[in-house]
Amino acid sequence: MKTIGLIGGMSWESSVEYYRIVNQAVRRRLGGLHSAQCVMFSFDFTEIVALQRKAAWDEAASRMIEAGNAVKKAGADFIVICTNTMHKLAPALEAAVPIPLLHIADPTAREAKARGIRKIGLLATKFTMEEEFYVERLSRLHGLEVLVPESSDRQRVHSIIFDELCQGRVLNESRTRMQAIIQSLADKGAQGIMLGCTELGLLIKDRDCPLPLFDTTVLHAEAAAEMAMA
Ligand code: GLU
Repeated sequence: MKTIGLIGGMSWESSVEYYRIVNQAVRRRLGGLHSAQCVMFSFDFTEIVALQRKAAWDEAASRMIEAGNAVKKAGADFIVICTNTMHKLAPALEAAVPIPLLHIADPTAREAKARGIRKIGLLATKFTMEEEFYVERLSRLHGLEVLVPESSDRQRVHSIIFDELCQGRVLNESRTRMQAIIQSLADKGAQGIMLGCTELGLLIKDRDCPLPLFDTTVLHAEAAAEMAMA
């Protein structure tokens, strides 16, 4: 089995899910006492958020490269970044660390397309919803049409992520608000909803969403387990 190199702590609330899902996926397939062979570099998230807020992306890239080299040195065969947002720096990481990167958007987009989705609603941080690095990959590489919420709703989703979910707070009122945002995306023609932030699955489950739901955490972690066992 290959060793998965997880770069996590962004936030650890979702990194825990990655650890659980890769292990469950390996046990499901190999049975018995099998579990995933993996290493994790876990950041102090407040340091990363400070860099995001002041748009110090070069420094953030250096931190990601350090983490990538750390997991490689610890034996990782490939890298899994346990956050959508920090995939903004995936090209820098890929250029600097000579092991493959499993990009979070790819397994998620593939699953959506396999289920017949062409137009997908994206819920994520403002960085992920508003900047090119993510939406462009979904459209250019995977041919998906991506719909994002309107500006005030994007701000609300962003706040729910950082002020609540990344701090371990899962609130019913935020779920209700998120469901209204999902409905507005459905009204605009979304055929499915992509949870493009690794904490959103803590708040929104299949039963909370009238459209097919694509959770990047689950699909990315399961793809990582498959890649490790291939
Ligand atoms: N985990 C979140 C994501 O998937 C947000 C945290 C971050 O800014 O990295 O985008």
